[in-house]
Amino acid sequence: MTARRIDGKAAAQAIRDKIATLVPEFERRAGRPPALTTVLVGEDPASAVYVRSKNRATAEAGMVSFAHNLPATTTEDELLQLVTDLNADGRVDGILVQLPLPPKIDATRVIETIDPAKDVDGFHPINAGRLASGLPSLVPCTPLGCLYLLRQELGDLAGLNAVVVGRSNIVGKPMAQLLLAENCTVTIAHSRTRDVSDVVRNGDVVIAAVGRPEMIRSDWIKPGATVIDVGINRVPTDDGKGRLVGDVAYDEVAEVADAISPVPGGVGPMTIAMLMRNTLVAAHRRAGLADPEGL
Ligand code: NAP
Repeated sequence: MTARRIDGKAAAQAIRDKIATLVPEFERRAGRPPALTTVLVGEDPASAVYVRSKNRATAEAGMVSFAHNLPATTTEDELLQLVTDLNADGRVDGILVQLPLPPKIDATRVIETIDPAKDVDGFHPINAGRLASGLPSLVPCTPLGCLYLLRQELGDLAGLNAVVVGRSNIVGKPMAQLLLAENCTVTIAHSRTRDVSDVVRNGDVVIAAVGRPEMIRSDWIKPGATVIDVGINRVPTDDGKGRLVGDVAYDEVAEVADAISPVPGGVGPMTIAMLMRNTLVAAHRRAGLADPEGL
C-alpha cells in the first residue's frame, strides 16, 4: 500500500481563497478591514522569513498588515509597552509576537500581556483554558491546521484512537484538546513515555510534534492509520545546503499508513492559513459579529 499524500498546500490555498472572499463582506459591515500586527524582535533569519510570509499572506487576503521589526537590544519593558499600545489600538484585530524572543525577554510575560481577544496565536492562558473547557477561544494555528487536514481526510473523528507525540503548549497540548473535543480517545506521548513505539502503534490517527528527524518509523504505525507530521527539521546533505524532513520517516511510513502529510507541503502552509482564519475570526468577534461561516 502507498498512502495518500495529504496536500496541505492545496488545502491552505483553498482556505486563504475563501478568507479573501469574506474580507470585503467584513469590511462592509464593520466599516474597516481586519488587521494583523506582527512583532519581530532581533534578526533571527528563520523568524524573519516566517514573519515576512505572514505579512504577505495577510496582504494577499485583503487584510491590513502592520509590522513592527525591533532591534535585538529591545528591552522587555519596551516590548510590553508596545503590546499594551497595540491592545488599545482599535484598528488592530490580531497581535502576533514571533517566538522565540531573545533570552533576556520573558516570553510568558509578553504572551500574558496580549489582549486574549487579539491573541491570534492562541497562546494566552485564557485561550488555552477556554479551549480546555470547551468554550469559544482563539486556538493555536498549527494544531488547528492539523485538525482541518484530519477532518478533510476522515470526516467524523469520533471514537478514533488518536496519539499525539509531543506535549508543547504550542502544538501537542492544544492538539490533544482539539481531538478530545472531536470525541477521539486521546493519548499524549512525550520524552518520558515508556515503549513509545507501542503507544504510537495504537493510533488510528498519529500526530507527530517532536522535533526529531524521522523518529517515527513504519513499524510504529498501525496499518491504515492517518499520520500528520508537524516536525520541521533540517538535516545535513552532501552539498552543504541541508534539507527539511519531518518527525516521520515519510517513505517507509507511506507503505503502512492510509494517508500521510509530507514535510514540506503539509502542516506548514496550514499554519499560515489558520493565522489568517484567526485574524478574521478575531475581527468578527471584536466587531460584535457572528463568526464567519465555514471556517
Ligand atoms: P518542543 O516544544 O520542543 O516539544 C517537543 C515535544 O516532543 C516535547 O513535549 C518532548 O517531550 C517531546 N519529545 C522529545 N523527544 C521525544 C522522544 N524521543 N519521544 C517522545 N517525545 C519526545 O517542540 P514544538 O514546538 O512542539 O515543535 C515540535 C516540532 O514541530 C518541531 O520540529 C517544530 O519545528 C515543528 N513545528 C512546526 C510548525 C509548523 O507550522 N509546521 C509549527 C510549530 C512547530 P518532553 O515534554 O518530555 O520534553
